[in-house]
Amino acid sequence: MNFLISKEKREVVSINEEIYSGIIVIDPGHGGEDTGAISQNNVNEKDVVLDISLKLGEKLEENNFKVYFTRKSDKALGNTVRSDIINRAKFINARNADIFLSIHLNGSDVESAKGVESYSRFLDDKSYLLAESIQDELSSIEYTKDRGIKETNEKSLGILRYTNITGVLLELGFITNSEDEKYLISEEGQDIIVYCILNGILNYFNEIK
Ligand SMILES: [Zn+2]
Repeated sequence: MNFLISKEKREVVSINEEIYSGIIVIDPGHGGEDTGAISQNNVNEKDVVLDISLKLGEKLEENNFKVYFTRKSDKALGNTVRSDIINRAKFINARNADIFLSIHLNGSDVESAKGVESYSRFLDDKSYLLAESIQDELSSIEYTKDRGIKETNEKSLGILRYTNITGVLLELGFITNSEDEKYLISEEGQDIIVYCILNGILNYFNEIK
């Protein structure tokens, strides 16, 4: 038996370990030379997504998931954006995993742009269901704007095009917006976001079983 703290009440509830086992790949976006988006205070997307990803991995392992990371340190997986994406996709495709999550933050020249959004793979029902399960949880805390689920095959979201297992790309907020940034870099904000993603994943596995 393992324990999961619900995000609303912070009460400890027990969950059945038999139900929730699976293999998950976590892909913290960017790394190394590739900083991702940068805030006014010079906080880099690559660092925040790594922190959140490592916390998420820990919680998933506590819930009997086998977890792989595309990176656990500050490095890129290729010398160019394209080779980086291709190498991440190869890694993900080779793990025989149930799902993968690519973890990102948004950036914009418009300071007021804010909110959380989830990307599903183009015309992929399971990917959409996973995105929906997680987005529902993330939007329920109302820490920022709910930008909804986006279904796209745009080039910038190549990881969803080059992978062949169920997956989502999460944009957990805008690092370029001071309110989103404050939440995203705080311990409490990160903990709540991690619980939301975990709950979304558990809901997804319940739904498809
Ligand atoms: Zn990114």
